[in-house]
Amino acid sequence: MVNLVLTFIGPPGAGKGHFSYWIVKKFGFKRLASGDITRKYADEPTEIGLKISKLMERGELLPDELISQLFFLELEKIHSNVVLDGFPRTKIQGVFLHTFLRKKMSKNKFIVIILKTKKEDSAYRVQGRLFCAICSATYHPKLSPPRESFFCDNDNTKLSRRADDEHFAERWATYERKTLPLIKFMKARVNPKNLFEIGSDLSKEEIKKILEKIVEKN
Ligand SMILES: [Zn+2]
Repeated sequence: MVNLVLTFIGPPGAGKGHFSYWIVKKFGFKRLASGDITRKYADEPTEIGLKISKLMERGELLPDELISQLFFLELEKIHSNVVLDGFPRTKIQGVFLHTFLRKKMSKNKFIVIILKTKKEDSAYRVQGRLFCAICSATYHPKLSPPRESFFCDNDNTKLSRRADDEHFAERWATYERKTLPLIKFMKARVNPKNLFEIGSDLSKEEIKKILEKIVEKN
């Protein structure tokens, strides 16, 4: 059986984290999330760890090359299906990933799922969103409430707002500037059989049905 490397690309609030988490629970994928990986390496007393913790202290984003390198170090250790949560986010990251997979993991199948969301829907979802700091699950008081208000279904952690969710306009602008070129690149370079665009007019349940078919077919 071929292992899948699956990634979601879309604007803030499109459900990338939500569906990544769902795929892990439903199909037993491993999940690699940028926040987790960054924290893990930042804690290590290595050259790379020092570099990361310095950037984090200064409140700077990790450069494309560095974040890609971390993902590749982790990907090389995984020999099962894996979902990438929050990576790639820019065209440069996409180019690095595409090259890495072709050279080092050519036996795996790379699946790209583009989640399309209108700007106004994205704004609505992001601005009310609640977030679990332990498992990264996201909730929305109206659209996807947790079973118990303000507590995570998975681990009962008290939910919080993500600081950058308050800056929606900025994040949408970043999406247009950095992620739209990534989508264009993926459409040009990834096998069309392995690239899916899912429209924003579908409900979460409908999207899950489509995802189920994609995973089962592959
Ligand atoms: Zn949680």
